[in-house]
Amino acid sequence: MSDEPMPNSAEDSRLRQEIGELLHAGLTTEVEPRAYEFELIQRIVAELQDLPRSDLRGKLVKAGFTAEPYRGDEGIEEACETCMYYLSQRRFCQLPELMLPVEPNWSCRLWRI
Ligand code: SF4
Repeated sequence: MSDEPMPNSAEDSRLRQEIGELLHAGLTTEVEPRAYEFELIQRIVAELQDLPRSDLRGKLVKAGFTAEPYRGDEGIEEACETCMYYLSQRRFCQLPELMLPVEPNWSCRLWRI
């Protein structure tokens, strides 16, 4: 049986709340540099893969999570809700190295459109 959380499960809600509390409590994450270049994307993804699966804080820090959208240099707002990895029905990030419940107005530096 898969150990992925079931869609819309209570575990999603619990984990989303835990992440939100960490972010709102001021967890310092690696918001920049943003992962716009292939090499940096690959490096961050590799570092995420090296983390223990249960290392929630490590994932948030390394991916540069924020509890609000990030505004890029050209004024483009980077938010989970416009990211290619975001599942809107489930409010979930399906980037394989993250696989975390998120809020639509959160962001991370692996945002991609
Ligand atoms: S990869 Fe996209 S959906 Fe996942 S946390 Fe980052 S911005 Fe949000």
